Amino acid sequence: MNGNTDGSDKDTLRAQPNGSACGVSPSRLPPEFYDAFLSTAAKERKPCPIRGLFPLESTPGLISLLAGKPNATTFPFTSLSFTARSPIDDSPEAISLTETEFAEALQYGATDGLGQLRNWIVGLQEFSHDRKHDGGWKVSIGTGSQDLIYKAVAATVNQGDPVLVESPVYAGVLPIFQGHNCELVAVETDSCGIQSSSLRSILENWPVNKPRPKILYTVPYGCNPTGMTATLERRKEVLRLAREYNILILEDDPYYYLYYGDGPRYPSYFALELEEPEVGRVLRFDSLSKILSAGLRIGFASGPEPLIQAIDRHTTSLNLQTSTFTQMVAYKLLDAWGYDGFKIHTEKVSAFHRGKRDIFERVMNKHLSGLAQWSSPEAGMFFWFKLILSEGDKVAEDGDSEAIIRTKAFDRGVLALPGTVFMPDGRKTAYVRAAFSLSTEPEVEEALRRLRQVILEARAE
Ligand code: PMP
Repeated sequence: MNGNTDGSDKDTLRAQPNGSACGVSPSRLPPEFYDAFLSTAAKERKPCPIRGLFPLESTPGLISLLAGKPNATTFPFTSLSFTARSPIDDSPEAISLTETEFAEALQYGATDGLGQLRNWIVGLQEFSHDRKHDGGWKVSIGTGSQDLIYKAVAATVNQGDPVLVESPVYAGVLPIFQGHNCELVAVETDSCGIQSSSLRSILENWPVNKPRPKILYTVPYGCNPTGMTATLERRKEVLRLAREYNILILEDDPYYYLYYGDGPRYPSYFALELEEPEVGRVLRFDSLSKILSAGLRIGFASGPEPLIQAIDRHTTSLNLQTSTFTQMVAYKLLDAWGYDGFKIHTEKVSAFHRGKRDIFERVMNKHLSGLAQWSSPEAGMFFWFKLILSEGDKVAEDGDSEAIIRTKAFDRGVLALPGTVFMPDGRKTAYVRAAFSLSTEPEVEEALRRLRQVILEARAE
Protein backbone atom coordinates (compact mmCIF):
# COMPACT_ATOMS: atom_id res chain seq x y z
CA MET A 1 0.00 0.00 0.00
CA ASN A 2 1.14 3.49 -0.70
CA GLY A 3 0.67 6.46 1.58
CA ASN A 4 0.74 8.91 -1.32
CA THR A 5 -2.82 8.63 -2.39
CA ASP A 6 -4.69 9.55 -5.47
CA GLY A 7 -7.60 10.07 -3.13
CA SER A 8 -9.23 6.72 -3.69
CA ASP A 9 -8.15 5.01 -0.49
CA LYS A 10 -8.58 8.17 1.55
CA ASP A 11 -12.17 8.40 0.40
CA THR A 12 -12.98 5.34 2.44
CA LEU A 13 -11.91 7.21 5.57
CA ARG A 14 -14.29 10.05 4.89
CA ALA A 15 -16.48 11.14 7.76
CA GLN A 16 -20.07 12.17 7.15
CA PRO A 17 -20.40 14.82 4.50
CA ASN A 18 -20.56 18.31 5.86
CA GLY A 19 -21.28 21.83 4.80
CA SER A 20 -18.29 22.22 2.54
CA ALA A 21 -19.45 19.21 0.57
CA CYS A 22 -22.83 20.91 0.08
CA GLY A 23 -21.15 23.83 -1.64
CA VAL A 24 -21.67 26.36 1.19
CA SER A 25 -18.34 28.02 1.69
CA PRO A 26 -17.79 29.56 5.07
CA SER A 27 -15.59 32.61 5.32
CA ARG A 28 -12.22 32.13 6.95
CA LEU A 29 -11.48 34.20 10.04
CA PRO A 30 -8.59 36.56 9.19
CA PRO A 31 -5.19 36.32 10.94
CA GLU A 32 -5.87 39.56 12.91
CA PHE A 33 -8.90 37.86 14.47
CA TYR A 34 -6.55 35.83 16.68
CA ASP A 35 -4.79 38.87 18.15
CA ALA A 36 -7.50 39.06 20.78
CA PHE A 37 -7.02 35.39 21.61
CA LEU A 38 -3.25 35.26 21.97
CA SER A 39 -1.83 35.63 25.46
CA THR A 40 0.61 38.40 26.26
CA ALA A 41 3.38 35.81 26.65
CA ALA A 42 2.60 34.33 23.23
CA LYS A 43 2.67 37.75 21.60
CA GLU A 44 5.98 38.59 23.22
CA ARG A 45 7.64 35.30 22.33
CA LYS A 46 10.04 35.92 19.46
CA PRO A 47 10.68 33.36 16.72
CA CYS A 48 13.99 31.52 17.03
CA PRO A 49 16.58 33.24 14.80
CA ILE A 50 18.23 29.93 13.87
CA ARG A 51 15.37 27.46 13.44
CA GLY A 52 13.47 29.81 11.15
CA LEU A 53 16.37 29.54 8.68
CA PHE A 54 16.50 25.72 8.64
CA PRO A 55 14.51 25.47 5.38
CA LEU A 56 17.15 27.60 3.59
CA GLU A 57 19.74 24.91 4.23
CA SER A 58 18.34 22.89 1.35
CA THR A 59 19.00 25.73 -1.15
CA PRO A 60 21.02 24.15 -4.01
CA GLY A 61 24.71 25.06 -3.90
CA LEU A 62 24.46 26.63 -0.46
CA ILE A 63 27.10 25.86 2.16
CA SER A 64 25.44 26.10 5.56
CA LEU A 65 27.42 27.33 8.53
CA LEU A 66 24.14 28.01 10.30
CA ALA A 67 23.14 25.58 12.97
CA GLY A 68 25.00 23.79 15.72
CA LYS A 69 24.03 20.44 14.29
CA PRO A 70 26.21 17.58 15.48
CA ASN A 71 28.05 15.62 12.83
CA ALA A 72 26.14 12.37 12.51
CA THR A 73 29.25 10.42 11.49
CA THR A 74 30.26 10.58 15.15
CA PHE A 75 27.03 8.88 16.24
CA PRO A 76 27.20 5.17 17.04
CA PHE A 77 23.94 4.19 15.32
CA THR A 78 24.41 2.83 11.82
CA SER A 79 21.01 1.75 10.53
CA LEU A 80 17.44 1.17 11.58
CA SER A 81 14.87 -1.36 10.53
CA PHE A 82 11.94 -2.68 12.48
CA THR A 83 9.13 -5.15 12.08
CA ALA A 84 5.46 -4.25 12.30
CA ARG A 85 2.29 -6.31 11.99
CA SER A 86 0.43 -5.85 8.75
CA PRO A 87 -2.97 -4.30 9.41
CA ILE A 88 -4.50 -6.70 6.88
CA ASP A 89 -3.40 -10.10 8.08
CA ASP A 90 -1.12 -9.44 11.04
CA SER A 91 1.85 -10.89 9.17
CA PRO A 92 5.20 -9.33 10.13
CA GLU A 93 6.46 -6.73 7.66
CA ALA A 94 10.03 -5.44 7.69
CA ILE A 95 10.40 -1.69 7.34
CA SER A 96 13.82 -0.10 6.83
CA LEU A 97 14.98 3.48 6.78
CA THR A 98 17.04 4.53 3.77
CA GLU A 99 20.44 6.06 4.49
CA THR A 100 19.05 9.55 3.95
CA GLU A 101 16.04 8.91 6.16
CA PHE A 102 18.25 7.45 8.83
CA ALA A 103 20.56 10.47 8.75
CA GLU A 104 17.51 12.71 9.04
CA ALA A 105 16.18 10.68 11.97
CA LEU A 106 19.43 11.20 13.88
CA GLN A 107 19.54 14.95 13.34
CA TYR A 108 17.70 18.02 14.58
CA GLY A 109 14.65 18.72 12.46
CA ALA A 110 11.86 21.18 11.85
CA THR A 111 10.12 22.76 14.83
CA ASP A 112 6.64 21.84 13.60
CA GLY A 113 7.61 18.27 12.82
CA LEU A 114 9.19 16.03 10.23
CA GLY A 115 7.98 17.25 6.83
CA GLN A 116 7.06 13.81 5.50
CA LEU A 117 5.02 12.98 8.61
CA ARG A 118 3.35 16.38 8.63
CA ASN A 119 2.28 15.92 5.00
CA TRP A 120 0.95 12.47 5.78
CA ILE A 121 -1.03 13.88 8.69
CA VAL A 122 -2.41 16.71 6.57
CA GLY A 123 -3.71 14.04 4.19
CA LEU A 124 -5.20 12.14 7.08
CA GLN A 125 -6.97 15.23 8.40
CA GLU A 126 -8.26 16.12 4.95
CA PHE A 127 -10.03 12.87 4.50
CA SER A 128 -10.85 11.84 8.08
CA HIS A 129 -12.52 15.21 8.55
CA ASP A 130 -13.40 16.02 4.96
CA ARG A 131 -11.55 19.28 5.25
CA LYS A 132 -9.40 20.44 2.37
CA HIS A 133 -5.96 21.81 3.13
CA ASP A 134 -6.84 25.20 1.71
CA GLY A 135 -4.35 27.37 3.58
CA GLY A 136 -6.82 28.03 6.38
CA TRP A 137 -5.28 25.50 8.73
CA LYS A 138 -1.90 24.04 9.55
CA VAL A 139 -0.58 21.03 11.37
CA SER A 140 2.13 20.94 14.01
CA ILE A 141 3.55 17.80 15.54
CA GLY A 142 4.20 17.66 19.25
CA THR A 143 5.62 15.35 21.89
CA GLY A 144 2.25 13.76 22.49
CA SER A 145 -0.92 15.82 22.38
CA GLN A 146 -0.29 16.80 26.00
CA ASP A 147 2.71 18.87 24.88
CA LEU A 148 0.58 20.73 22.33
CA ILE A 149 -2.34 21.26 24.69
CA TYR A 150 0.02 22.81 27.22
CA LYS A 151 1.44 25.15 24.60
CA ALA A 152 -2.00 26.01 23.22
CA VAL A 153 -3.19 27.01 26.68
CA ALA A 154 -0.03 29.05 27.23
CA ALA A 155 -0.62 30.66 23.83
CA THR A 156 -4.14 31.76 24.66
CA VAL A 157 -4.60 32.40 28.36
CA ASN A 158 -3.20 35.09 30.58
CA GLN A 159 -2.75 34.60 34.31
CA GLY A 160 -6.12 34.50 36.01
CA ASP A 161 -8.24 34.22 32.86
CA PRO A 162 -11.52 32.33 33.13
CA VAL A 163 -11.62 29.20 30.95
CA LEU A 164 -14.50 26.88 30.14
CA VAL A 165 -13.82 23.22 30.82
CA GLU A 166 -16.21 20.33 30.68
CA SER A 167 -16.84 18.74 34.03
CA PRO A 168 -15.63 16.19 34.89
CA VAL A 169 -12.52 16.96 32.90
CA TYR A 170 -9.33 15.13 31.85
CA ALA A 171 -7.23 15.42 35.00
CA GLY A 172 -4.08 16.00 32.93
CA VAL A 173 -5.19 19.48 31.89
CA LEU A 174 -6.10 20.70 35.37
CA PRO A 175 -2.49 21.46 36.37
CA ILE A 176 -2.01 23.30 33.06
CA PHE A 177 -4.91 25.64 33.76
CA GLN A 178 -4.07 25.87 37.46
CA GLY A 179 -0.48 26.75 36.57
CA HIS A 180 -1.89 29.80 34.79
CA ASN A 181 -4.11 30.59 37.79
CA CYS A 182 -7.13 30.20 35.55
CA GLU A 183 -10.62 30.41 36.91
CA LEU A 184 -12.06 27.03 35.90
CA VAL A 185 -15.65 27.44 34.79
CA ALA A 186 -17.26 24.00 34.76
CA VAL A 187 -19.61 23.07 31.91
CA GLU A 188 -21.80 20.13 32.89
CA THR A 189 -21.74 16.86 30.96
CA ASP A 190 -24.04 13.84 30.80
CA SER A 191 -24.38 10.66 28.76
CA CYS A 192 -24.68 12.79 25.58
CA GLY A 193 -21.36 14.52 26.29
CA ILE A 194 -20.94 18.20 27.01
CA GLN A 195 -24.24 19.89 27.89
CA SER A 196 -24.70 22.77 25.51
CA SER A 197 -27.54 24.02 27.74
CA SER A 198 -25.05 24.36 30.61
CA LEU A 199 -22.67 26.24 28.33
CA ARG A 200 -25.47 28.53 27.17
CA SER A 201 -26.58 29.25 30.69
CA ILE A 202 -23.03 30.08 31.82
CA LEU A 203 -22.52 32.45 28.90
CA GLU A 204 -25.95 34.07 29.08
CA ASN A 205 -25.51 34.75 32.76
CA TRP A 206 -21.91 35.92 32.55
CA PRO A 207 -21.47 39.15 34.58
CA VAL A 208 -21.50 42.11 32.23
CA ASN A 209 -18.30 43.72 33.49
CA LYS A 210 -16.28 40.55 33.79
CA PRO A 211 -14.04 39.52 30.86
CA ARG A 212 -15.56 36.49 29.18
CA PRO A 213 -13.70 33.21 28.71
CA LYS A 214 -11.88 32.89 25.39
CA ILE A 215 -11.51 29.12 25.26
CA LEU A 216 -13.52 25.97 25.85
CA TYR A 217 -11.70 22.68 26.45
CA THR A 218 -13.57 19.48 25.60
CA VAL A 219 -12.89 15.80 24.82
CA PRO A 220 -15.69 14.86 22.40
CA TYR A 221 -15.09 11.12 21.90
CA GLY A 222 -14.91 8.61 24.74
CA CYS A 223 -14.20 11.39 27.17
CA ASN A 224 -11.56 10.85 29.81
CA PRO A 225 -12.94 10.18 32.46
CA THR A 226 -16.63 9.71 31.62
CA GLY A 227 -16.26 7.59 28.48
CA MET A 228 -19.09 9.60 26.92
CA THR A 229 -19.26 10.89 23.36
CA ALA A 230 -20.86 14.21 22.47
CA THR A 231 -23.85 13.86 20.15
CA LEU A 232 -24.13 15.72 16.87
CA GLU A 233 -26.78 18.07 18.23
CA ARG A 234 -24.59 19.00 21.18
CA ARG A 235 -21.59 19.59 18.93
CA LYS A 236 -23.57 21.86 16.63
CA GLU A 237 -24.97 23.82 19.52
CA VAL A 238 -21.53 24.21 21.11
CA LEU A 239 -20.17 25.55 17.82
CA ARG A 240 -23.09 27.96 17.52
CA LEU A 241 -22.43 29.23 21.05
CA ALA A 242 -18.71 29.55 20.34
CA ARG A 243 -19.55 31.84 17.44
CA GLU A 244 -22.20 33.75 19.36
CA TYR A 245 -19.89 34.38 22.34
CA ASN A 246 -16.58 34.56 20.46
CA ILE A 247 -14.88 31.51 21.91
CA LEU A 248 -12.22 29.13 20.58
CA ILE A 249 -12.79 25.41 20.99
CA LEU A 250 -9.84 23.26 22.07
CA GLU A 251 -10.98 19.88 20.73
CA ASP A 252 -8.86 17.24 22.46
CA ASP A 253 -9.71 14.03 20.63
CA PRO A 254 -7.24 11.22 21.39
CA TYR A 255 -10.08 8.66 21.37
CA TYR A 256 -11.49 9.62 17.96
CA TYR A 257 -10.19 6.43 16.38
CA LEU A 258 -11.35 4.39 19.38
CA TYR A 259 -15.01 4.86 18.55
CA TYR A 260 -16.91 1.58 18.62
CA GLY A 261 -20.53 2.71 18.80
CA ASP A 262 -23.20 1.13 16.61
CA GLY A 263 -23.87 4.12 14.38
CA PRO A 264 -21.51 6.10 12.16
CA ARG A 265 -19.02 8.44 13.76
CA TYR A 266 -20.15 12.02 14.40
CA PRO A 267 -18.10 14.63 12.58
CA SER A 268 -15.42 16.28 14.68
CA TYR A 269 -15.71 19.96 15.59
CA PHE A 270 -12.86 20.46 13.13
CA ALA A 271 -15.10 19.06 10.38
CA LEU A 272 -18.38 20.51 11.60
CA GLU A 273 -17.18 24.07 11.75
CA LEU A 274 -17.28 24.06 7.96
CA GLU A 275 -21.05 24.25 8.31
CA GLU A 276 -20.72 27.51 10.24
CA PRO A 277 -20.77 30.86 8.42
CA GLU A 278 -17.15 31.40 9.47
CA VAL A 279 -14.39 28.91 10.02
CA GLY A 280 -11.31 29.00 12.31
CA ARG A 281 -12.58 28.58 15.85
CA VAL A 282 -11.41 25.02 16.37
CA LEU A 283 -7.96 23.94 17.42
CA ARG A 284 -7.91 20.17 17.23
CA PHE A 285 -5.55 17.78 19.03
CA ASP A 286 -4.93 14.22 17.89
CA SER A 287 -2.65 11.59 19.33
CA LEU A 288 -0.84 8.52 18.03
CA SER A 289 -0.58 7.28 21.62
CA LYS A 290 -3.68 5.12 21.64
CA ILE A 291 -3.33 3.78 18.11
CA LEU A 292 0.38 3.31 17.32
CA SER A 293 2.30 3.58 20.56
CA ALA A 294 2.17 5.85 23.58
CA GLY A 295 5.96 5.58 23.83
CA LEU A 296 6.48 7.25 20.45
CA ARG A 297 5.23 10.46 22.09
CA ILE A 298 3.62 11.89 18.98
CA GLY A 299 0.53 14.04 18.83
CA PHE A 300 -0.57 16.71 16.39
CA ALA A 301 -2.47 19.96 16.49
CA SER A 302 -4.53 21.14 13.52
CA GLY A 303 -6.00 24.59 13.31
CA PRO A 304 -5.69 28.25 12.36
CA GLU A 305 -2.17 29.28 11.36
CA PRO A 306 -1.73 32.07 13.95
CA LEU A 307 -2.47 29.64 16.77
CA ILE A 308 -0.24 26.91 15.35
CA GLN A 309 2.55 29.46 14.90
CA ALA A 310 2.17 30.53 18.53
CA ILE A 311 2.54 26.88 19.55
CA ASP A 312 5.63 26.52 17.35
CA ARG A 313 7.25 29.62 18.84
CA HIS A 314 6.77 28.08 22.26
CA THR A 315 8.37 24.85 21.01
CA THR A 316 11.48 26.67 19.83
CA SER A 317 12.11 27.92 23.35
CA LEU A 318 10.89 24.86 25.26
CA ASN A 319 11.95 21.62 23.58
CA LEU A 320 13.01 22.66 20.04
CA GLN A 321 11.00 19.88 18.38
CA THR A 322 9.56 16.41 18.80
CA SER A 323 12.04 13.54 18.41
CA THR A 324 12.92 13.20 14.74
CA PHE A 325 13.73 9.57 15.43
CA THR A 326 10.27 8.54 16.59
CA GLN A 327 8.61 10.74 13.97
CA MET A 328 10.56 8.93 11.25
CA VAL A 329 9.56 5.54 12.67
CA ALA A 330 5.91 6.60 12.74
CA TYR A 331 6.13 8.04 9.23
CA LYS A 332 7.72 4.91 7.74
CA LEU A 333 5.02 2.75 9.26
CA LEU A 334 2.14 5.02 8.20
CA ASP A 335 3.56 5.49 4.73
CA ALA A 336 3.88 1.73 4.29
CA TRP A 337 0.25 1.27 5.40
CA GLY A 338 -1.30 4.15 3.50
CA TYR A 339 -4.65 5.55 4.57
CA ASP A 340 -6.43 2.27 3.85
CA GLY A 341 -4.06 0.40 6.12
CA PHE A 342 -4.45 3.05 8.81
CA LYS A 343 -8.22 2.70 8.60
CA ILE A 344 -8.07 -1.07 8.90
CA HIS A 345 -5.67 -0.84 11.82
CA THR A 346 -7.69 1.75 13.75
CA GLU A 347 -10.87 -0.25 13.18
CA LYS A 348 -9.14 -3.23 14.73
CA VAL A 349 -7.99 -1.16 17.68
CA SER A 350 -11.50 0.16 18.26
CA ALA A 351 -13.00 -3.36 17.93
CA PHE A 352 -10.46 -4.54 20.52
CA HIS A 353 -11.65 -1.86 22.94
CA ARG A 354 -15.27 -2.68 22.25
CA GLY A 355 -14.52 -6.27 23.25
CA LYS A 356 -12.85 -5.05 26.45
CA ARG A 357 -15.82 -2.76 27.15
CA ASP A 358 -18.23 -5.67 26.73
CA ILE A 359 -16.29 -7.89 29.12
CA PHE A 360 -16.06 -5.14 31.71
CA GLU A 361 -19.74 -4.33 31.48
CA ARG A 362 -20.76 -7.97 31.69
CA VAL A 363 -18.76 -8.35 34.88
CA MET A 364 -20.06 -4.99 36.20
CA ASN A 365 -23.59 -6.32 35.73
CA LYS A 366 -22.65 -9.47 37.59
CA HIS A 367 -20.93 -7.88 40.59
CA LEU A 368 -22.00 -4.26 40.82
CA SER A 369 -25.64 -4.14 39.87
CA GLY A 370 -27.50 -2.30 42.58
CA LEU A 371 -24.16 -1.11 43.96
CA ALA A 372 -23.16 1.24 41.16
CA GLN A 373 -24.66 3.12 38.22
CA TRP A 374 -23.09 3.72 34.85
CA SER A 375 -23.63 4.47 31.17
CA SER A 376 -21.95 2.27 28.63
CA PRO A 377 -19.12 4.04 26.76
CA GLU A 378 -19.09 4.01 22.96
CA ALA A 379 -15.49 5.12 22.60
CA GLY A 380 -12.27 5.17 24.55
CA MET A 381 -11.14 3.06 27.45
CA PHE A 382 -12.98 4.17 30.57
CA PHE A 383 -15.99 3.29 32.67
CA TRP A 384 -17.23 6.06 34.91
CA PHE A 385 -19.51 4.67 37.58
CA LYS A 386 -21.26 6.05 40.58
CA LEU A 387 -21.15 4.11 43.82
CA ILE A 388 -24.46 3.53 45.57
CA LEU A 389 -23.26 3.74 49.10
CA SER A 390 -26.38 3.04 51.08
CA GLU A 391 -29.44 0.95 50.53
CA GLY A 392 -32.21 2.90 48.90
CA ASP A 393 -29.55 5.51 48.08
CA LYS A 394 -30.82 7.96 45.51
CA VAL A 395 -27.18 8.15 44.43
CA ALA A 396 -26.68 11.58 45.83
CA GLU A 397 -24.28 13.84 43.92
CA ASP A 398 -22.44 14.59 47.14
CA GLY A 399 -21.43 10.99 47.79
CA ASP A 400 -17.70 10.39 48.15
CA SER A 401 -15.76 7.56 46.56
CA GLU A 402 -12.38 8.84 47.74
CA ALA A 403 -11.84 6.81 50.92
CA ILE A 404 -13.38 3.69 49.44
CA ILE A 405 -11.27 3.74 46.31
CA ARG A 406 -8.00 5.18 47.60
CA THR A 407 -7.82 3.17 50.79
CA LYS A 408 -10.25 0.31 51.07
CA ALA A 409 -10.16 -0.89 47.48
CA PHE A 410 -6.41 -0.40 47.32
CA ASP A 411 -5.94 -2.42 50.52
CA ARG A 412 -7.81 -5.22 48.76
CA GLY A 413 -5.51 -4.92 45.75
CA VAL A 414 -7.63 -2.86 43.36
CA LEU A 415 -6.35 0.43 41.99
CA ALA A 416 -8.80 2.85 40.34
CA LEU A 417 -9.33 6.59 40.48
CA PRO A 418 -11.82 8.41 42.70
CA GLY A 419 -13.86 10.86 40.63
CA THR A 420 -12.78 13.86 42.67
CA VAL A 421 -9.48 14.10 40.74
CA PHE A 422 -11.45 14.94 37.57
CA MET A 423 -13.55 17.68 39.14
CA PRO A 424 -12.46 21.19 38.15
CA ASP A 425 -13.32 22.39 41.67
CA GLY A 426 -12.00 19.20 43.34
CA ARG A 427 -15.39 18.52 44.89
CA LYS A 428 -16.27 15.15 46.33
CA THR A 429 -18.17 12.76 44.13
CA ALA A 430 -19.44 9.22 44.33
CA TYR A 431 -17.97 8.50 40.89
CA VAL A 432 -15.02 6.26 40.10
CA ARG A 433 -13.00 5.92 36.90
CA ALA A 434 -11.89 2.47 35.81
CA ALA A 435 -9.71 1.89 32.74
CA PHE A 436 -10.56 -1.34 30.94
CA SER A 437 -7.95 -1.41 28.19
CA LEU A 438 -5.38 -3.67 29.87
CA SER A 439 -7.08 -6.17 32.17
CA THR A 440 -7.88 -9.73 31.15
CA GLU A 441 -11.34 -11.15 31.85
CA PRO A 442 -10.17 -13.05 34.98
CA GLU A 443 -8.53 -9.86 36.27
CA VAL A 444 -11.72 -7.85 35.70
CA GLU A 445 -13.71 -10.60 37.40
CA GLU A 446 -11.44 -10.55 40.44
CA ALA A 447 -11.16 -6.75 40.62
CA LEU A 448 -14.91 -6.19 40.51
CA ARG A 449 -15.55 -9.05 42.94
CA ARG A 450 -13.19 -7.32 45.40
CA LEU A 451 -14.81 -3.94 44.74
CA ARG A 452 -18.21 -5.46 45.43
CA GLN A 453 -16.95 -6.62 48.85
CA VAL A 454 -15.55 -3.19 49.61
CA ILE A 455 -18.82 -1.45 48.71
CA LEU A 456 -20.89 -3.92 50.71
CA GLU A 457 -18.65 -3.40 53.73
CA ALA A 458 -18.88 0.39 53.36
CA ARG A 459 -22.66 0.12 53.23
CA ALA A 460 -22.68 -1.98 56.37
CA GLU A 461 -20.65 0.57 58.36
N1 PMP B 1 -5.90 14.20 26.33
C1 PMP B 1 -6.59 13.21 26.90
C2 PMP B 1 -8.06 13.35 27.05
C3 PMP B 1 -5.95 12.05 27.32
O1 PMP B 1 -6.66 11.08 27.89
C4 PMP B 1 -4.55 11.94 27.16
C5 PMP B 1 -3.79 10.72 27.60
N2 PMP B 1 -4.10 10.26 28.83
C6 PMP B 1 -3.88 13.01 26.56
C7 PMP B 1 -4.58 14.11 26.14
C8 PMP B 1 -2.39 12.99 26.33
O2 PMP B 1 -2.05 12.06 25.35
P1 PMP B 1 -0.63 12.01 24.62
O3 PMP B 1 -0.07 10.67 24.94
O4 PMP B 1 -0.92 12.19 23.17
O5 PMP B 1 0.20 13.11 25.17
